[in-house]
Parts: sequence; structure tokens; C-alpha cells
Amino acid sequence: MKTLKGTGIAKGLAFGKAKYIKTSKYEIPAHSISKGQSKAELTRLNDILEQSRSELQDYLKAEQISDSEKEILGTHLEIIADPELKEQITQAITQDLHNVAKAIDLAFEKAIIFFQGMENEMFSQRAIDFEDVKKRLLHKVLPQELDLFAGLDAESIPIFAEIGPSEISLLSKQQVRAYLCNGISYTSHVAILSRALNIGCVSNLEDLEKYIKEGDYIIVDGESGTVISQPDQKALEAFAQQQKKRELIRQKELLLKDLESLTKDGHQIDIALNVGLPLEIDQVNELNSSGVGLFRTEFLFLSSDHLPSEEEQYKVYSEMAAKIAPRPLTIRTFDLGGDKISHLIPSPKEENPNLGNRGIRFSLAHPQLLRTQLRAILRAATHGSIRIMFPMIIDVNDFLEAKRILGHCIDELYEEEIPYNAEIPVGSMIEIPSAALSSDALARECDFLSIGTNDLVQYTLAVDRNNEAVSSYFVQHHPAVLKLIQTTVINAAKHDTPVSICGEMASIREYIPLLIGMGVRELSVNAAVYYEIKAVVRNCDEKLQMIVKDFDFSTSLPKVNELVYRTLKTYYS
Ligand code: PEP
Ligand code: MG
Repeated sequence: MKTLKGTGIAKGLAFGKAKYIKTSKYEIPAHSISKGQSKAELTRLNDILEQSRSELQDYLKAEQISDSEKEILGTHLEIIADPELKEQITQAITQDLHNVAKAIDLAFEKAIIFFQGMENEMFSQRAIDFEDVKKRLLHKVLPQELDLFAGLDAESIPIFAEIGPSEISLLSKQQVRAYLCNGISYTSHVAILSRALNIGCVSNLEDLEKYIKEGDYIIVDGESGTVISQPDQKALEAFAQQQKKRELIRQKELLLKDLESLTKDGHQIDIALNVGLPLEIDQVNELNSSGVGLFRTEFLFLSSDHLPSEEEQYKVYSEMAAKIAPRPLTIRTFDLGGDKISHLIPSPKEENPNLGNRGIRFSLAHPQLLRTQLRAILRAATHGSIRIMFPMIIDVNDFLEAKRILGHCIDELYEEEIPYNAEIPVGSMIEIPSAALSSDALARECDFLSIGTNDLVQYTLAVDRNNEAVSSYFVQHHPAVLKLIQTTVINAAKHDTPVSICGEMASIREYIPLLIGMGVRELSVNAAVYYEIKAVVRNCDEKLQMIVKDFDFSTSLPKVNELVYRTLKTYYS
């Protein structure tokens, strides 16, 4: 037996068999082929090229495609049709007797290295196109992730070298209850999605491969960040006890379901849910929450093999809205880019993706994509109470630009005589310091605001939310961050504009008294902690306002630590 201590990323207690997953799509088989096999390998090559060509042509025909995407797809088609490249692959098969995957890899690597070495950025960028096409071709010969995941079930505890948001939804489909992967930070999208889907996760475990072998039985506790490999009888008994204890807590929390979300002195605090996948919508009614404060629609892309059409989106949004009506469904338009890269939209590689074409910028650069989504939302709003929220807004102009496109969509639907609802509240995320500093103007223009603390911390403190190595700098209650939240809350109140907190900060119970003391009246949290947060809310009272309301956040972190401590003391005493 060996106990390993890591970082708890997503709660979840599970016992199962360790299974190492190699997600790399580039495990190129090295075996040679015989002369007799080369003909079959050439046939495979032609099939792969043909399949990829028609796939790209289908994408080109899709209506949502923007001019820049067309350009990229056109380049990819040219690469696939390049006779020289094909000749090199053919020779690698027929003369050097490489298998088709190896032959593709060798030929493309040559091109990639050649272009990468170019000084001129325009040409060096070409390497990315070759990398993309190589991936597309290899995907057709090598086992795909889905197949690798196929062997997983509720008894498996997969261990990854790396994992992306789209793979988390695949895990959920396989009923996996917990997994291990190093290098995940608490506010990364992988972490958020794991918590949303109730899949336990522990990260940052040292010497994993030394202590956990393939097939070993392990206990994973995503809350404490502990992993026990080959547990003895005593550890197994403790695990069973823990399971019982958590079930009891769950039962006790259930009693909160029908109680109002009021502070002790009678202030209503709305607690909505953050959802990432449509299937999570049932939790809104199950928990009796006030609605959905954030639907991260980009996950529709990340777990799909095609661009979701207007009809598909209309169906998803209207079903979700109808299920929870009259409670509101806040649909955030696609926040693609950053760490949420969709393989469906070929985009140039960026040096600093979080400062690049992300969120509303990405949508404005792909107006057809945004229009398709907005049309679907406007139509779905005839089936329930829907709100639209734009991500990564930097200032009021950014917001008005997005709203202008919404106006076009309304005009289009009107002219096409398609039923829609234009009486739809439109709001902005506050997750960039400039947006918080512009919150006076934004609060005037917006129907509501929602503070995304995950990015607000990232951009205020210049600390990559996905980089575990700098996680000690990711201080959610840093005075600079709190000052921006305070500014936003004050400006929102000035214009009578509702403001909510939907970042992870609202899902951490230690911060709730502080936020309520600052005047926050709406929270949007992960379903897993809904009751926990509601219990804290019900214990807060007006004493908090006296401590926090006029606090001057132009101060040091130790002073703020003291403030948080005082708010907690009020709550616990
Ligand atoms: C945030 O940034 O706090 C937020 C809610 O958005 P996301 O985590 O999806 O970036
Ligand atoms: Mg964000």
C-alpha cells in the first residue's frame, strides 16, 4: 500500500483499477512492411487522402464558414492534393517499406521542419497547416481517442499524461467516476468540467508511475487530493466509512432543497447553476436552484464532431429553457479560443492564446458562427426565459458591437417570418480588468452583468489559470481583484443593473460571506456545491455589510486575509 498526496481538483471518492491512457494521437507504429504489403498500404493512402479531401470540401460547403476559415480550409485542400508530398509518401512506402502512418509522418515532418525554420512569419505559419493536415490524415489510420476510451467503465480509474476539456465529456459517457492527471490547475476548464460532471480528479502526484502500476487497485479522493494504491483492509474500511459519511452529508443537504435562499436578516440571494453540457440541466429542478447563471455553450463544440447547426442549437436551447421555465437560462455565446480550441474550426496557432482570439473576439471574427448561435437563441426564447451573455467583453464598444449583430439577427428572423422573441435580456461578462473599470458604462447599456472571477484573476494578476507552476500566484481574493469586483458591484447598483458572480469564487464557501458583505445578491455555482453554498448563505447576516461594504481594497494581501477571516468569524460565531 502507498498513499500519495496531490491536489484535489474535483471532489469524488472512487475505488477502481488504474488504467494508463495514452492520448497522444501520434503513437506512430514503427514496424516495416514487406514488399507484398506495399500495394495495400498505397490503397490505404489513397483512401485516406480521398476521405480527407471530401471531408474538407463538406466543411467548405457549410454555411457557417467565414472567409478566413475558407482560406485555411483551401490551404489544407492544396496540401492534400500536393503531388510532391504524395510522391514522398509513396516512396517511403514502396522503397523504404514504411507503414502508411510512418510514411505520412516522415513526409509531413520534413515539410513542417522546413517551414518552421523560416524567418518570415507568413511562411513559418504554414507549418501549422501541415501539422493540422497531418493530424487529420493520421486520425484516419491510428486508433482514435474514442477507441482508447472505449475500454473504460465505472470500475476504471484512468491516468492521463494530459487531457483536454473535450475528453472529459467522453469520460462522463463511459461512467468513469474519477481520474488522475498531473498539471491540472483548479480553475482550468478541464477542472471546471470535471466538477460539473461529478468526476473526481486528483492532480500533481509525484512518482505516479513508480507507485501505481497498470491494473493496480486504487482509492481516489478528489476532495482531499489523496490517492492510495493497493489499499490494505484498513484503508478499504476507511474508504467505506468515508462513503457512508458523505452520503449522510448529502442526505442532510437535501433538507435544504425547499428552504428559501435567504440570509438570516432576510436578504434574498439567488443561487443559480453553471452548466457546461445540456444533460446537466435537470439539476436545476432537482436542486430547486434559481436557474442557470452560466451555460458554457462552447462545450457543444468541444464534444461534437461537426459544427452545431442553427436547428441543432435551437433544439438544445429550447429544450433546456422549457425544462426550467420560468427560471432563466443564461446562455453565454461561444467562448472559444484560449484553452478551448475546437478542432472543427481550423485556426492559426497563437503564441498567447489567452490574450488572443478568444471569446467575443473569436465570435466577431467568425460572424457567421455567432449569427447562427444568436438566431438559434432568439428562436428558442419563445419556449422559456432566456438571457444572452457575451464573454470576454473588454468595454462598452465591444458589447455594442456584439449587440449590433444580435439586432441583425432579429431583423433577419422578422423578414423570414420565423417565430422569435426579441424581449430577451442581454448582458456582459466582467472578466477582464478593463471591463470592470468600464462597468459604469457597461452597467448602463447591459440588462445584467456577471463577474467571471476565473479570468478576472488571470488577467488582473497576469497568472495563467491553466499553469499549475504559477498557481500560488492565483489568489482569488487578491485586493486588486476584490477592488475590481467592488467597483463593478457599486456601478451596477448605480444603474440598478443586476450583477452576479459566476466564476469559481462563488463556488468556494469561504468567500461567500465576503461577497455578500460586498453587496453581491446573485451567485452562479457548480451543482456539486449548491447546497453547501446555500447553507452558508442562510447563515450570513447584515453584520457582514458593516465589515466589508466600505472596505478600502487599496491595501495589502495580509489585510485582506484578515478581512476574510473576520467575515468567516461572523459567520461561524
Ligand atoms: C470566468 O472566467 O470566471 C468564467 C466564468 O468563465 P470561464 O471559466 O468559462 O472562462
Ligand atoms: Mg471566463
